[in-house]
Amino acid sequence: MLAPLMMVAAVRAAGLPFSTVVIDAGHGGRDGGAVWNGLLERNLTLDVAKRLDAALRARGVRTLMTRRSDTTVELSTRAVIANRCRSAVFVSIHFNACRDRSASGIETHYRSARGKELALSVQRSLDKRVTGINRNVSYADYKVLRETRMPAVLVECGFISNKKEARLCASPAHRQKLAEAIATGILEAKK
Ligand SMILES: [Zn+2]
Repeated sequence: MLAPLMMVAAVRAAGLPFSTVVIDAGHGGRDGGAVWNGLLERNLTLDVAKRLDAALRARGVRTLMTRRSDTTVELSTRAVIANRCRSAVFVSIHFNACRDRSASGIETHYRSARGKELALSVQRSLDKRVTGINRNVSYADYKVLRETRMPAVLVECGFISNKKEARLCASPAHRQKLAEAIATGILEAKK
């Protein structure tokens, strides 16, 4: 039983080889996403995506955004944009909402094994650096994760349906922390 264990260790140590980060600001344009406590998801996602873009560029990483303004971009188009990139990882930014207003915290979704590796690294970094409950990583069969041919994750940056977390998400300083933590998590997963 040594061989499989060694293989797992080797995969972990290797990290992900990538040169570009495709940043996907969830929703936009006709698709507003969640609306709670005076916050509109599509605006928050674009703001964090732009901050993430700046944080990664400042650290010398090439980036590509699936949208840079408040425009409608279909989910399959987002995947097509990402799939044009060679040697990339895909990071989709979202905010969560739930009818149960007590729900709060940050979680990261993945669909592939390499996506999980990236998700674990991003979630670990968020847990270390950002205020909020760690809801861990989990598998999700989202279209952008399914159609992108690269390690892909979707980060739910917090519940805007939760009064306390909505107040945090409304703060530019908090969104900057989210972006910096996601950037660090992405880079810590790099080969
Ligand atoms: Zn969303």
